[in-house]
Amino acid sequence: MIIRAKQNITESELKNLKEYFTSKNFQLIDASSENVKVFGIIGDTSKLIEQDIYTIPGVEAVTRIQAPYKKASKEFHPEPTIVDVNGVKIGGDNFVVIAGPCSVESKEQIISIAEEVKKSGAKILRGGAFKPRTSPYAFQGLEAEGLDLLLEAKKATGLPIITEIMSEDMIDRYVKDVDIIQVGARNMQNFHLLKALGKTKKPILLKRGLSATIEEWLMAAEYILAGGNPNVILCERGIRTFEKYTRNTLDISAVLAVKELSHLPVIIDPSHSGGRWAMVPGLSKASLAVGADGLIVEVHNDPEHALCDGAQSLKPKKFDEMMGVLKQIAPIVGKKI
Ligand code: PEP
Ligand code: MN
Repeated sequence: MIIRAKQNITESELKNLKEYFTSKNFQLIDASSENVKVFGIIGDTSKLIEQDIYTIPGVEAVTRIQAPYKKASKEFHPEPTIVDVNGVKIGGDNFVVIAGPCSVESKEQIISIAEEVKKSGAKILRGGAFKPRTSPYAFQGLEAEGLDLLLEAKKATGLPIITEIMSEDMIDRYVKDVDIIQVGARNMQNFHLLKALGKTKKPILLKRGLSATIEEWLMAAEYILAGGNPNVILCERGIRTFEKYTRNTLDISAVLAVKELSHLPVIIDPSHSGGRWAMVPGLSKASLAVGADGLIVEVHNDPEHALCDGAQSLKPKKFDEMMGVLKQIAPIVGKKI
């Protein structure tokens, strides 16, 4: 971190400024010249808040050099993290496809979709039990019964399961029964929930918030990592922009940014990004080509009658065709699918 002091800083202000940092065990390097008073702050600056430093009399400007997150950063952990989900490895040279319906609707629905996606090469089954809907009048999910049905689909197919958690009070049940706990876009900054998940060792899929910057997203991951849970998988699911044609705007460059900044695996959700099933194969090919570590895709056997997100759900046949293409591309880009 670099601090520029005001040219007219007084001797006592300067003393106070130096003490502020040395009392917190930071080293202060004076790099001032005749025309400018600058100091380098050496130490773990992730613990410092820029806004607080501006309150010290005589401070003109504060520039952060190191990222505000530490455990999520590549400097802290240069090797890519590979998250092991009951033997399915996410990260490294693997491209893992997670697929299933937006919501669990019935036993028949979830088991038949699970069997279909497994046949096509999906390695993990998705299905919402507790649904975060914009309208309180929309289908809210089968809730606890949805979790029971996911477990039945897991038993029938052997596929590990992922489902979204909405509140801390469900953590014990999720830790017991779910293989990956999904934190939805709307809860990315639910810090109490993130802290509680940090105390578990379960793999967590952390979706990017609707309007979150990459730094905010990595800071959210930092909450889970700082709590002691290293099993974080990031998921880019499209962000809010001015564009209305697509449901969200897939920020494909976020994958490259995360790969540059962090060691955590990052997957893409092409379904919530485009919001239209016809876009899903194209966005999925782009995800594989850009270097994402996998996908989470919505698949429904009867999208017209789906209780949630039918418009963006692929039918099993289309999903199978898409998987065929992805399997051809994967070796070209050095990924195992
Ligand atoms: C979902 O995956 O069903 C979902 C609600 O996604 P998001 O949190 O990305 O909107
Ligand atoms: Mn959905």
